[in-house]
Amino acid sequence: DDYVDNDLVERPGVAFKDVGGMDVLKEQIKMNIIYPFQQPELFQSFGRKVGGGLLLYGPPGCGKTFLARATAGECQAHFIIISIHDVLDMYIGNSEKNLHNIFELARRKKPAIIFIDELDALGGSRQQMHLHHGRMLTNQLLTELDGIDSDNSQILVLGATNSPWFVDASLRRPGRFDRVLFVPPPDLAGRIQILQLHLQGKPIENIDYTRIAKLMEKFSGADIQAVCTAAADTVIAQVMKSGKMRPIRTEDLLNALKKIKPSTLEWLSIAK
Ligand code: ATP
Repeated sequence: DDYVDNDLVERPGVAFKDVGGMDVLKEQIKMNIIYPFQQPELFQSFGRKVGGGLLLYGPPGCGKTFLARATAGECQAHFIIISIHDVLDMYIGNSEKNLHNIFELARRKKPAIIFIDELDALGGSRQQMHLHHGRMLTNQLLTELDGIDSDNSQILVLGATNSPWFVDASLRRPGRFDRVLFVPPPDLAGRIQILQLHLQGKPIENIDYTRIAKLMEKFSGADIQAVCTAAADTVIAQVMKSGKMRPIRTEDLLNALKKIKPSTLEWLSIAK
């Protein structure tokens, strides 16, 4: 059981306040995931369902993983992250058993959230060799999600994909990944918040967040983070060269911005 050890289990130190934008998504996750998780009896008494899975989809770098981790933080649940590609790549032939062990680990560590990245890879999108294993692994995942032989109380499964159209329809049935949420590139207000989050605690001066964020249409959260890092690197290099300390200014971010292209464009054009 090499793959299944405590290194897999995180106690997230992030919560929703660390995730910029996504106000509507956060509300939906609270009402559909977090509150039922925390107060199952209350929700059940009103005929609301408890448990089951949630599928997050959208362009890369827009915070699916981050949002899932923060959801675990909000619930004070353990967080176990696995990627289907990893399970398939490393454990050919043994993938089903590994998946089972991961779910067993979560059941021992409950309350726990299992986050399964690249769910579409179960369809064998990458290699023909994976197609057969992907089918067997899909069946194992269905068994685990349905929890027929096991107790899934206090276990939540969140899935993520950039290619929702490749996710097996059997995984989308009731009680499985039956709720689907789109995680889009951040809007203007979201981009301002993400900029602030990634610059907070650093030496900054009079940053015009709105001006910068307006030029970041279709930037992912990861792109925005990259702009902040690039601007900081430029300033560090200058400080080292001149020996004179100075903060990051709006101009530094505008310059960094010119060199970084939004990475969601290709995805958005495919998904149209
Ligand atoms: P992929 O599809 O490539 O797996 P993803 O949608 O899961 O991408 P994340 O890995 O969650 O994206 O995001 C990458 C990084 O970008 C995060 O670790 C975080 O630092 C930053 N980021 C993304 N969205 C936000 C956000 N809304 N607020 C703050 N930071 C963000």
